[in-house]
Amino acid sequence: MSAVVKLSNVYKSFGTNKVLDGVSFEVGRGEVAAVIGQSGSGKSTALRCINALETIDGGTIDVCGHAVHDEKLDRRSLRRDVGIVFQSYNLFPHLTAEQNIMLAPSCVKKVSKAEARDLAKDVLARVGLAEKAGHYPEQLSGGQQQRVAIARSLAMQPKLMLFDEVTSALDPQLTGEVLKVMEDLARGGMTMILVTHEMAFARKVASQVVYMHKGKVWETGPGAMLDSPRTPELASFVGSGL
Ligand code: ADP
Ligand code: MG
Repeated sequence: MSAVVKLSNVYKSFGTNKVLDGVSFEVGRGEVAAVIGQSGSGKSTALRCINALETIDGGTIDVCGHAVHDEKLDRRSLRRDVGIVFQSYNLFPHLTAEQNIMLAPSCVKKVSKAEARDLAKDVLARVGLAEKAGHYPEQLSGGQQQRVAIARSLAMQPKLMLFDEVTSALDPQLTGEVLKVMEDLARGGMTMILVTHEMAFARKVASQVVYMHKGKVWETGPGAMLDSPRTPELASFVGSGL
């Protein structure tokens, strides 16, 4: 399986705080990797490094053929291949769902307005919101807004999707509908890395679970590793229900 993402011995510090301490893992095409771990273990930083939102101090990161660690990295080109969705969906309040989605394809990819609208309709249907195209964010629930944010990323036709705790701000009922969209994406063959606290979801959907602790990849394996942790740290993390 060819790796879409490969981190090798990645180091990253903020001042004297060593946040990534020799992190290595790789994700193959069509694979879903779930990154889990306590708050502060470096999960978000790892995702941000993959998308070059942070520069690294050591090691290498290869993403869809881009050498992210290289100072000559073409960030625009990288970000055309990589979609990222955060906990806060940051939709433009004065634009409809469809207009929010059309923005990047129009501005970045220079597709025609008609084509961007077709794309928006297509991705809204994929997240189950075809009938909400003309709605403004305030007319949508939190879960629906997050699904629009996912659709907005999909409209750029990324090769890799990164999700950072996209359901953390949602109540349980709305969480379910967002997780379902992510599960459908996974089934459709999208390569994904998601930081999540949803252990049941990680177990069910992830082909690989990456447990981070104190800036290191502490354990990695299939979802079943959550049922038989090798380290006391993972045992305690899983037991904690966080
Ligand atoms: P997680 O996502 O696992 O909760 P983060 O990657 O967000 O962890 O943070 C790991 C550590 O890095 C924390 O101690 C956090 O305070 C620190 N950190 C993250 N981003 C920055 C930043 N931009 N500047 C300084 N410290 C940061
Ligand atoms: Mg985080």
